[in-house]
Amino acid sequence: MRSYKEVIECVYTDVKNITDTGKVADYIPELAHVDANNFGVNITTIDKESFGVGDFEKKFSIQSVSKILTLTLAYKFEGVKLWDRVDVEPSGNPFNSLLQLEADSGKPRNPFINAGAIVICDVLLSHLKNPKEDFLDFCREISNNPTLNYNEKVAESEKISGFRNVALCNFIKSFGNIKNDVEEVLDFYFYTCSLEMTCKELSEIFLYLTIDNFTTQKGERVITESQTKRINAIMLTCGFYDESGEFAFRVGLPGKSGVGGGIIAIHPDQYCMAVWSPKLNKKGNSYKGMLFLEKFTTKTASSIF
Ligand code: GLU
Repeated sequence: MRSYKEVIECVYTDVKNITDTGKVADYIPELAHVDANNFGVNITTIDKESFGVGDFEKKFSIQSVSKILTLTLAYKFEGVKLWDRVDVEPSGNPFNSLLQLEADSGKPRNPFINAGAIVICDVLLSHLKNPKEDFLDFCREISNNPTLNYNEKVAESEKISGFRNVALCNFIKSFGNIKNDVEEVLDFYFYTCSLEMTCKELSEIFLYLTIDNFTTQKGERVITESQTKRINAIMLTCGFYDESGEFAFRVGLPGKSGVGGGIIAIHPDQYCMAVWSPKLNKKGNSYKGMLFLEKFTTKTASSIF
């Protein structure tokens, strides 16, 4: 951990001073209110040692990073049957694209683009009695963090502005790949995106994808070893919209970003790192977040390659 700490401090200072060419997401009105200068980093190692710098204890909207959590729960319920509903291929298109769905007959390319995550939410609605509460309980349990919560303002803000997601959900339903009521699916999807966490919390919740044989406080496994391998693989190939190749090339770790400016990156068997900086590059990924991780894995020679 000592060497990680030094590199984190040094790269943080370096990246903090770089001019950010990105822009805060404002298509969800509530997200535009965040201070663009926030910048936080937190690492949690497999020994559960934690170290953070900057704004690592401020809550932010994790947005699409939550797609890993919804996928995990749906995969737990469905096993391999899940892949009949959603594919595991990179999309090469923007996160909210409708284009490919027509050619692919309503089967989304992967669970990390909006179309895929909406289908995953539909799968969860078929399994959960009280979807919002049950999903939150799942997140609290795997992180051993009972304080986790949604940000209702963000969820409601997206509900009145998320026209593309409404279109996506209806479009997929027309192919028969949404089983529940469209409004209920979307309401659940918007709430999952509105989950709030700090960098510290974010780097802790994904330890189940980092540590071999991870068990919760109750002594339960979250998912199997093989499922862990597959989720990490989808993160590596599909976690950054149509910039997933670029992230793998520059950072070399499985990861996932969200339009709130958060990124999670996982080094299996070593650490889980969360970075947050709200200004996004043209592809919708945190500009400084990607830069930080690129410099960190380069300096510590700790990518998976
Ligand atoms: N709630 C956002 C949306 O559906 C999530 C996008 C993201 O973070 O990639 O547009």
